[in-house]
Amino acid sequence: MENKFQLFNTLTRKVEPFVPNEDGKVKMYTCGPTVYHFAHIGNLRSYIMEDVLEKSLRFAGYDVKRVMNITDVGHLSGDTDTGEDKMLKGAKRENKSVMEIAKFYTDAFFSDCKKLNIKTPDVVEPATNCISDFIHIVEVLLEKGYAYVAGGNVYFDTSKLEDYYVFSSQSEKELLVGVRDDVEQDENKKNKSDFVLWFTKSKFDAQELKWESPWGIGYPGWHIECSGISMKHLGENMDIHCGGVDNIFPHHTNEIAQSEAYLGHKWCNYWFHVHHLNDRSGKMSKSNGDFLTVSLLEEKGYNPLVYRMFCLQSHYRKPLEFSYEVLDQVAAAYQKLVRRVAALKTDGETDAEKKEMYRGKFLEALANDINTSSALTVVYDVLKDDMNDATKLALIQEMDEVLGLSLAEGEENSDGGKNGADEELTAFILAKIEERKEAKKAKDFAKADAIRDELLARGVAIKDTREGVVWELV
Ligand code: AMP
Ligand code: ZN
Repeated sequence: MENKFQLFNTLTRKVEPFVPNEDGKVKMYTCGPTVYHFAHIGNLRSYIMEDVLEKSLRFAGYDVKRVMNITDVGHLSGDTDTGEDKMLKGAKRENKSVMEIAKFYTDAFFSDCKKLNIKTPDVVEPATNCISDFIHIVEVLLEKGYAYVAGGNVYFDTSKLEDYYVFSSQSEKELLVGVRDDVEQDENKKNKSDFVLWFTKSKFDAQELKWESPWGIGYPGWHIECSGISMKHLGENMDIHCGGVDNIFPHHTNEIAQSEAYLGHKWCNYWFHVHHLNDRSGKMSKSNGDFLTVSLLEEKGYNPLVYRMFCLQSHYRKPLEFSYEVLDQVAAAYQKLVRRVAALKTDGETDAEKKEMYRGKFLEALANDINTSSALTVVYDVLKDDMNDATKLALIQEMDEVLGLSLAEGEENSDGGKNGADEELTAFILAKIEERKEAKKAKDFAKADAIRDELLARGVAIKDTREGVVWELV
């Protein structure tokens, strides 16, 4: 297969040609959600961009098998084995059992994914389905001398590896060792960077889900889940492993440590990490209960696909700041785009040469480390071109297989999110919001209030929030 695809690999810190182990086939793994709460739109940024990666590879002609876990046990509040199990926290918060919480939030996650046109991976596996697989890996690690039992728990011994901090440069490694100094100390650990493979009742007695094991009744650590589930479905060699940047350390570092110690050879060749979506206060977090979800965007009148387009406009390796102002601009652009596509007529034969050319341009953008904003530009180039409508429509439908914006699904979908507002009114509202912002900046509050009233007179209510101004038709 012709090798055109280039991806940034966190392992080598370079954009490099993508060469799968088996010609034409890609084995891909995604760290799935911890189902103790709704996903925030930051989490969903990662899943949107991973979805685009999968679909880009398919567009390029690869046969992709993608696996995702559902973390329904073992993910503690601190990623370094400290604090309470997140699932237990969710169950206590809602007075339900852990399995009830897991079911509810797994369903909620897939419902959000559906609204965002995120394809469900070929295999979705909850961690609680694979306990015997995890136990087997832990047994082998103990046999091989990479693990030890202390205080009832089984730990991975990081001192047995030549290079534990695989993702970091030398100077960062020194810093990381320092970071470990601040972490709450677990006296059972031989080395600060060791991590838990299996917890037993000797720790966290309150744990709801527990299983028999050679080391006593207990439950798996979070990291072992992804190693076990990926190997179960993808075998000993994987091509791409994905997650958000926060997964690089310790989660993916630990996954590599235990998987390669278990297998005795290299495990995964490419590591794809999506940078974070932040709100204006900095990090997006679920802990304060008040966080941005797809349902919240819908309540405010946005079509979830506007958020998908918002994500596609930025490169996945750059941090992205969320604001309603930018989302409004994207909503207006989305509305316009869908209307332009809806106006295309199926007027005869498609032009094979043009199709080939634009397919090539689109693939070139994606193959350049998933450059989604360039890929979107190709859609606009197609619309501007003088080829017939039938060719434009055929191309846009093909490209939308990757972009997932439902561009050709008709004008009723062109709302862009702001129910009932036409293009002209949207433009007026956005201009007024901008004008009010300027007035406030200049401390002309009388003018700012007058603008608010003017908008209200046109049936538009505005509200200032941490993420900027939100408007709705009243
Ligand atoms: P969790 O449900 O906490 O296990 O996280 C699910 C996924 O979302 C993981 O791949 C995280 O790396 C990713 N993630 C967490 N926070 C953000 C964020 N603010 N922006 C983008 N991705 C995130
Ligand atoms: Zn994982």
